[in-house]
Amino acid sequence: MLSSRLNNLVPYVPGEQPQDKKYIKLNTNENPYPPSPLIDRFLKEISRDRLRLYPDPNFVSLREKIAERHGLDPSQIFVGNGSDEVLAFAFYAFFDTMNGPLLFPEFTYSFYPVYGDLFGIRYKKVPLTPDFNIDLSLMLQNGPSSGVIFPNPNAPTGILLSIEQIKGFLNGYRKDRVVVIDEAYIDFGGESAVSLIRDHENILIVRTLSKSLSLAGIRIGFAMGNETLIQGLFRVKDSFNSYPANTLSQEIAKIAVSDEPYFRQVVEKIILTRDRLSTELKQVGWEVLPSSANFVFTRKKGVHGKEIYLRLKERGILVRHFNIPGIDEFVRITVGTEEDTTTLLKEIDACF
Ligand SMILES: *Cc1c(COP(=O)(O)O)cnc(C)c1O
Repeated sequence: MLSSRLNNLVPYVPGEQPQDKKYIKLNTNENPYPPSPLIDRFLKEISRDRLRLYPDPNFVSLREKIAERHGLDPSQIFVGNGSDEVLAFAFYAFFDTMNGPLLFPEFTYSFYPVYGDLFGIRYKKVPLTPDFNIDLSLMLQNGPSSGVIFPNPNAPTGILLSIEQIKGFLNGYRKDRVVVIDEAYIDFGGESAVSLIRDHENILIVRTLSKSLSLAGIRIGFAMGNETLIQGLFRVKDSFNSYPANTLSQEIAKIAVSDEPYFRQVVEKIILTRDRLSTELKQVGWEVLPSSANFVFTRKKGVHGKEIYLRLKERGILVRHFNIPGIDEFVRITVGTEEDTTTLLKEIDACF
């Protein structure tokens, strides 16, 4: 009964959202703080009559707000149902199967190979450097490719590429192939490549409201790039689903994107907690990769990552383990509240 296309399709596995008991949940990089309090008033006041109508298929007012925040024109903004959907559309819109493989880092966001497989796009995993950095020069040395995608900072390592490194890469790479930079975690201390859009027509920056804006539940992501790329994404969207972003999500996203002071405050708190978590883990002998994200990637000599994951779970703390050779000694720990972090460090002290 199933299409043969599904024979070899291995889906992405999201982090657990357990319903059985209450965990300190540090496994899916959600924000431990609630989104902008201005959303409360909106939720109290919105009339159910608004829901009779279809949402705006062109996200006009949300795109205006996003454009304003990033110093761009609304024609340079696309919106989707989570950045996962935006990424999927980008795969379909830009990465050809004829021009050589799509390149991405060997250890990275595990949805990329899934989209490659779903759309029949050949891809090649480019090894990281020995200290787990994305190796952009190795990507340049590769033969013909149909495009490049990488997160910055990378996931699950948390390691950031500088804007100079990205510029150097773009100058050495073909101008007629798209480079997608997935900036899901850029707000936690990195410098965005948005400023490069003006001089580089082939870059697409993808963002999400799920992490730094505490809105994983509304499923809004967006892309920024030159108008030709954005129109390409709209063509895919309008061949798939006219209304990927519902009325409530669009309204809530507008409020959150405009509340800069609250956003700054939340992000600064998380950065402080992340740096404390990294420091204290190192003090008890854990190796922690330098993180510019809202998580740390860490390992402890002599204990397998799976074991760390299981022991912490027993103690009511969920972290993420990837059972992939090369990174299976590590666990990825989302930065929680100060209080969560104190509990986590206490439990780690007690069981390792
Ligand atoms: C979380 C994450 C996303 C997905 O974000 P959504 O907008 O919630 O779909 C995309 N890319 C990376 C690297 C992520 O970690």
